[in-house]
Amino acid sequence: MTNNNYFQEVLDRLEDVNKHLNLHPAIYNRLRHPRRSLIVSLPVRMDNGEVRYFEGYRVHYNTARGPAKGGIRYHPNVTLNEIITLAALMTWKCAIVDLPFGGAKGGVACDTTKMSRDEIKNLTRRYTHEIAMMIGPESDILAPDMYTDEQVMAWIMDTYSTIKGYSVPGVVTGKPVCIGGSLGRKTATSQGLVTVLLEAVKHLGLPQTGLAISIIGFGNVGATAADILYEKGMHIVGLADSKAAIYNPKGLDIKAVKKHKSDKKSLAGFKDAEEVSVDELVGLRCDVLISAALEGQINSKNANNVKARIVAEGANNPTTREADAILNDKGVFILPDILANAGGVVVSYFEWVQDIQRYFWQEDEIKRRLESIMTKAFKHVMAIAHDKKVDMRTAAMILGVGRVAEAGAVRGLYP
Ligand code: NAD
Repeated sequence: MTNNNYFQEVLDRLEDVNKHLNLHPAIYNRLRHPRRSLIVSLPVRMDNGEVRYFEGYRVHYNTARGPAKGGIRYHPNVTLNEIITLAALMTWKCAIVDLPFGGAKGGVACDTTKMSRDEIKNLTRRYTHEIAMMIGPESDILAPDMYTDEQVMAWIMDTYSTIKGYSVPGVVTGKPVCIGGSLGRKTATSQGLVTVLLEAVKHLGLPQTGLAISIIGFGNVGATAADILYEKGMHIVGLADSKAAIYNPKGLDIKAVKKHKSDKKSLAGFKDAEEVSVDELVGLRCDVLISAALEGQINSKNANNVKARIVAEGANNPTTREADAILNDKGVFILPDILANAGGVVVSYFEWVQDIQRYFWQEDEIKRRLESIMTKAFKHVMAIAHDKKVDMRTAAMILGVGRVAEAGAVRGLYP
């Protein structure tokens, strides 16, 4: 267990937003409690024959608007507190983009960088078996998150389908296309992020090309965002992964960086850049700072140094509450996680719909619908921010929490 009490920040932010929503105390209190949390112990046979135990979690935060929906994270620092926090954020996020889903999250405390493919497969199958009573297309749909990918989703689908005795593609999203995955899912989070980022750029009157961009995290979200933005004529000046951060104010050659990362498995040692720490990168000059890695990376220690005009939260919960206040005071325009990275769950929703209907859409239709939902959500949040004179995070929460509260109120309390 880390000392980070991320969930307390969720509760504090809920309290802030309730100053605008004035919810009935019964409804407000329900939003402060996760609906159900499961802790599982996972015995896993390792390659050397030894059986090791891992701890895993699955949390349904709120299901007033529909089945629980949320990713699975494999990381050494995974804790129940973190998973509950991320499940709460999923709840608000699904509501902001108006999907008929509640919020969930899961994770296993493990270091996949030190595990073989077979060990990850064994862990994934055992985890799926242990949480099987909570999941399913009608109850809880899983998806990738940090250090889980479409192969992990395929193992989850296969294990769950084996338990059921027939194929159930709708239990996970982000799976390979050949078993019911959706076109456009892999790039969806970054595509959605870029859509709202370009809306923010337009709103602030900044140029639509040539902006200097730094990105913390070079995985699914970070590397894909770098690709899209590079193609759009932006300069990617800074990048970070778990091992190194690199910076070149003249712009990095993204193709060369990707080749280096694929050869060396790290950004460290990339020749056309200066190597810095992640904290330093946060404070180096850029127009847009994108977070696409872990929680709390923009914090009270480095927020004062931020030079960016826009902070776009591709990661979940990357900015601490203290840092949020510092950035707002500095006039930084924050695109909050619950809006900025919602593109992934939007296309996950499309995937789930396609799986249930057994009818698959063309990629251009998926992209068009994604862009339309993200633009609409951005404009709705902007309108609330303008109307209530609040920052974008508070506005997004007013929209998301308000919708969840409305569904909870109309459904009432059982018994
Ligand atoms: P990923 O595992 O594909 O990539 C994570 C990246 O972060 C890797 O490049 C890794 O090296 C880097 N990283 C890890 N620790 C770091 C550190 N201490 N400092 C700097 N970089 C570090 O994960 P992902 O799917 O890209 O997810 C990234 C973030 O985006 C997470 O917060 C996740 O919850 C969020 N997110 C992902 C999706 C999605 O569709 N994948 C959707 C919404 C939100």
